Formats: sequence, structure tokens, C-alpha cells
Amino acid sequence: MIIKFKNDVKEKELDKIRKYLINKGFELHESTGKSTKLIGVIGDTISFDPESLYAYDFVDTVLRVQEPFKQVNRKFKPEDTIVDVSGVKIGGKNIVIMGGPCAVESESQIDEITPIIQKAGAKILRGGAYKPRTSPYSFQGLGEEGLNILQKAKNKYNMPVVTEIMSVEDLPKFIEKVDLIQVGTRNMQNFALLKELGKINKPILLKRGLSSTIEEWLMSAEYILAGGNKNVILCERGIRTYETSTRNTLDISSIPVIKKLTHLPIIVDPSHAAGRWEYVEALSLAAIAAGADGLIIEVHQTPESALSDGQQSLKPERFTKLIKKCKKIAQAIDKNL
Ligand code: PEP
Ligand code: MN
Repeated sequence: MIIKFKNDVKEKELDKIRKYLINKGFELHESTGKSTKLIGVIGDTISFDPESLYAYDFVDTVLRVQEPFKQVNRKFKPEDTIVDVSGVKIGGKNIVIMGGPCAVESESQIDEITPIIQKAGAKILRGGAYKPRTSPYSFQGLGEEGLNILQKAKNKYNMPVVTEIMSVEDLPKFIEKVDLIQVGTRNMQNFALLKELGKINKPILLKRGLSSTIEEWLMSAEYILAGGNKNVILCERGIRTYETSTRNTLDISSIPVIKKLTHLPIIVDPSHAAGRWEYVEALSLAAIAAGADGLIIEVHQTPESALSDGQQSLKPERFTKLIKKCKKIAQAIDKNL
């Protein structure tokens, strides 16, 4: 349930209603916009008659929220959430590019690629240390050593890092060493993990599940916000459909849908959607034009010798050209890149 107050509502009046609702056992979430003041009410509101709140003359409107997701709902918080990733702001008018290899392979690889992607215009370095591979015989990542390599690059080049967490037990290391914690597609509904991520303050990059609906995806984000962590960025990375020409089908329409349903920022991963480097540029430009707040792209110095996802990784020169094109789209739609 959402209560919208009249513009001239006084703090004293708000306090009165806060006390009343808290006494009834509800949890309150407040949102203050330029000219609007809202209180979102969470709890068992079924047996509560919203009409009764109109007895307070400073109440403007009371509406029931039909959707199962509450705190991520734009009705609860009409303004865009801007997530601060160690100084890099994601959401609002900003477009942020993240780039780097699928997996951290060695210290020299990361030391070489970081200044290249930074010069190209990327603001956050990506690289998997713990890799969720379909085959147990494939490269599984360097683990903690990979995190240390990322941390070194972060300090040397002053560039925040994003990397995937696969297990709750690794969380303390991630809190210490990582700026943006990625939840991969295969863990989108790992509720035990989501609950733990709700208890911390670090920004979370929540990828859409392989076959998840937008509502299921938002319910996963709701787990994190319900735990107290409001710093969630969504990532559309393609979903499984009957089409086999691409690794996944990039659901471009999820961008405007997400923008309508939630205040959280959304970025796009064209690499895992396409599965082939040739398609990455078109999908990137389309994503920005459709309103995405950023991109996360796989880049590798020598894709042919990459330990994972070489077929979808851009060479640095292509990445640099791609960002130049993205800037033109950003300018056309009045965004900052
Ligand atoms: C990744 O970003 O390296 C990755 C494994 O992505 P996804 O979870 O989207 O497959
Ligand atoms: Mn990959």
C-alpha cells in the first residue's frame, strides 16, 4: 500500500501517521521527491481498509500495490535510484561502460588490459575469478588469486572492479576486495545468497536468470532490498528462447519494462546475449538507444587464446570504436557517456 501526501504536509502530521501504522505492525518505507512525499507500507495490509486513512486531511491518495515486488517498485519510489560504485554513479542520466575479460587469467593479462579499456572510456573493470562453467572440465577461474589480481589493478589504475560471487562462504573476501558484486544468471534465484547480500552495503549487479520472467527477476532484487541493501543494479544478459543463432536472445524490451516497473538502474550484457563478437556492437547500440544505464562487455587482447568466451570477446580496438559509437547515441538521447 502506498500513501501519497498533500504537498504542504507537515513533519508533525507525518509522525502521527507513522506511529499509527507502526503500531499496527507495518513496516514503512519513505520516499521524498521534489514535490512528493510517499510512504510505502509493507505487511499484511489485506485486512486493513485503506479508505480509513482519508480521515487524515493531509493524505492525498492511498493505493494498493498489486505487484508482488514492493521496495523495488517505482510506485514506492518514483525517482531513479543512482547506485554509487566506489565513485562511479550508475543510473539517472549517466551511461557507464564496464569492460574486461570473461575470466581473470593472469596478472599480466589484467595489468595489460586495464589501462586499455580505461583509455577507451570504460569506468569499471570486469573479470571473473570464480567461474560458473557448464562443464566441470572447463577452466574454473583463479579463485582468490583472481580477486587479488583485480584488486591490484583497481589500486594501480584507480578503477573499480566487478566480479561474480558463486558462494555465500566467499562473501567476506568480496566485501574486502570487490566494488560491485555480480550475481550471475545461474544464481539469480539462490535465495540464501540473496539474503546474505541484503545484509551488506556493497552494490550488487543482479543478472537476469537464464529463463526468468521480469517479475521473477524483480522478486530476486526485492530479496536484497528487503534485507536492507538498496544498492542493486539489474543486468539484462539475454534469455533462453527457441532461437539458436545467438547464444541467448537479448530481451531489449525488458529495458523499457524495467524502467516502468522499477526505480533501479539496468545495464545490458551484449556479450553473453550474443555469444559472438560480431553481434556485440549492434546489441550495445540498441541497448543504449532503448534506455539502458550502461553496458558490461567482454574484451580480450587475444580472443583466440582466451580461457573462456573468446568467441564473444571484443579485441581492444573494436571495444574502443564501439564506445565512440555509443557516445553518439548517448548524445542523441541527452545522456552522459
Ligand atoms: C559472466 O558475466 O562472466 C557470466 C558468467 O555471465 P552470466 O551469468 O550472465 O552467464
Ligand atoms: Mn563470459
